[in-house]
Amino acid sequence: MRHSRAMAIPHMAYVDGRWVDQPRKFAVRDPFDRALIAEVADASDELVDAAVEAAARAFPAWRAVPGPGRGKLLGELGRRMLADERRLAELCTRENGKTTAEAIAEVRYAASFLTWFAGEAERIYGETIPASHPGQRITVVREPVGPCALITPWNFPYAMLTRKLGAALAAGCTVVAKPAEQTPLGALALAELCDEVGVPAGVVNIVPSSEGVRTGPRLIAAPQIRKVSFTGSTAVGRGILRACADDLKRVSLELGGNAPFVVFADADLDAAVRGAMVAKFRNAGQSCVGANRFIVEQPIAERFTAALVAQVAALRTGRGSEPGVDLGPVIDDAAVAKIARLVDDAIARGARLLHGAPPDGTSRVVAPIVLAGVTPEMAVWREEIFGPVVTLRTARDEADAIAQANDTDAGLVAYVYTRDGARQIRVADALEVGMIGLNEGLVSTAQAPFGGVKHSGLGREGSRHGLDDYTNLKYTAARS
Ligand code: NAP
Repeated sequence: MRHSRAMAIPHMAYVDGRWVDQPRKFAVRDPFDRALIAEVADASDELVDAAVEAAARAFPAWRAVPGPGRGKLLGELGRRMLADERRLAELCTRENGKTTAEAIAEVRYAASFLTWFAGEAERIYGETIPASHPGQRITVVREPVGPCALITPWNFPYAMLTRKLGAALAAGCTVVAKPAEQTPLGALALAELCDEVGVPAGVVNIVPSSEGVRTGPRLIAAPQIRKVSFTGSTAVGRGILRACADDLKRVSLELGGNAPFVVFADADLDAAVRGAMVAKFRNAGQSCVGANRFIVEQPIAERFTAALVAQVAALRTGRGSEPGVDLGPVIDDAAVAKIARLVDDAIARGARLLHGAPPDGTSRVVAPIVLAGVTPEMAVWREEIFGPVVTLRTARDEADAIAQANDTDAGLVAYVYTRDGARQIRVADALEVGMIGLNEGLVSTAQAPFGGVKHSGLGREGSRHGLDDYTNLKYTAARS
């Protein structure tokens, strides 16, 4: 079926360069007021299979396109995203709820992965290795792994996809992407732009679905799929790793976090509060790199807490598209219920409510909450909150702060505020995470290798390392 941009909201699957409708649809609703945005084609098993077939058919020709040619298309795609940023941001605010400013920032961040990997596509270098036998030469090349399955969450509908898509396409892989049920529209809007810039049919396929538990495993199990890249919850990620074991498929997992935000007594207080506001409240707290646990050295605890509460009290909540709003709604009722459960549990166990109140379930707009006197037994400290809730504990000293920071299964990111150079090195070395924000509340950028250790995942996205997971090394030992 042909598709035209006059159709403001994309709502069909994109398979083999065509827009495909399905008899079954699912509703995509505005998280703020539950208003219907679109009825989207719900991919059947047959359509998932067709998308995999298309990706497999397109692979030989796509991998044969020279790197600069693939890079040129990616660069064009990135520029088209930026040229269309208002429309794309509006769509993002509607389906995800985030504020207009956050949505524009996301579109720019998402486009940056395309332009970054456009450059990297020209630099997929091999190497020559000195051999141990006379007359022998060892040459190493990097080859694309093959058709890839990309499975993404709802919290950054564009960026979580382009971080994978950019690397996959640069490497010469073709893809079938399954966006989250709540936010398929951004991925479909991106497919429109792929179509417009001339990405060949079958290289990018998007299968929206209301049942990730059905379409995800079907996609992953397809024999033509040689690699799975997943961003989402740790529980689903574990299942994907198991599902890929029998066929020994390559797997990259970007999973949940439980980030500590450590403030030492020598920190620049204003900078720490500024960083805390970004690290905690971006996307209404629904970010895998969101600060989850604030650990503040005792001498500065009172001043830091007072300054933070003052900033939190100034936050304005509401519909993401309203001017001046800082926090939009959280994604759905389950998210509200989870936040309520965590906050209720903390208060019942003795935490002090310094600001806000537990959500009562009448709205998806959750006003910011600050809890002090949190203890390690509380669920709010142990679980990823994914909402606008600050949890505060004090630390006796550096060793205590490090021990508290590392006391979690997650290992995605940690934030540290200190002006002491020697301490910066000691603490950075001791933290069990993949990323550190040192006097910095926002670590994510296309140039850096994003990813975690422990239960936060496997592999890295972004940077030159982002290509590693989409390439196989092949060497030739040649004798003259
Ligand atoms: P989720 O429930 O794990 O869902 C993520 C994706 O997986 C969705 O597309 C979902 O489809 C699909 N899915 C569900 N069950 C599946 C299965 N059995 N097999 C294959 N795919 C399946 O995660 P979420 O709640 O949407 O996202 C929030 C989580 O993502 C948080 O834990 C957050 O920390 C993490 N996250 C991590 C990063 C990172 O880079 N480390 C970045 C962003 C978010 P449906 O929507 O249809 O269920």
